[in-house]
Amino acid sequence: MSSQTGRQQINIVCVKCGIQLTLGKVTLSYLGSRFPVELYKCSQCGLVYIPEELANGKMKQVEAAMEDK
Ligand SMILES: [Zn+2]
Repeated sequence: MSSQTGRQQINIVCVKCGIQLTLGKVTLSYLGSRFPVELYKCSQCGLVYIPEELANGKMKQVEAAMEDK
């Protein structure tokens, strides 16, 4: 039996520090708006991983934040 659900397991390592990125609140600027989202970032150098969905503006959080304005 697999314990895998539909949730994607993300395992990203900082190329600089070689440590695993951790989920944390990041303030993003997108199309002139600023809003907080939860993203994977390096606790050592502050590098933030931007997922493809977010770069393409397909993230639900982005759409919600923009409609809220
Ligand atoms: Zn780092």
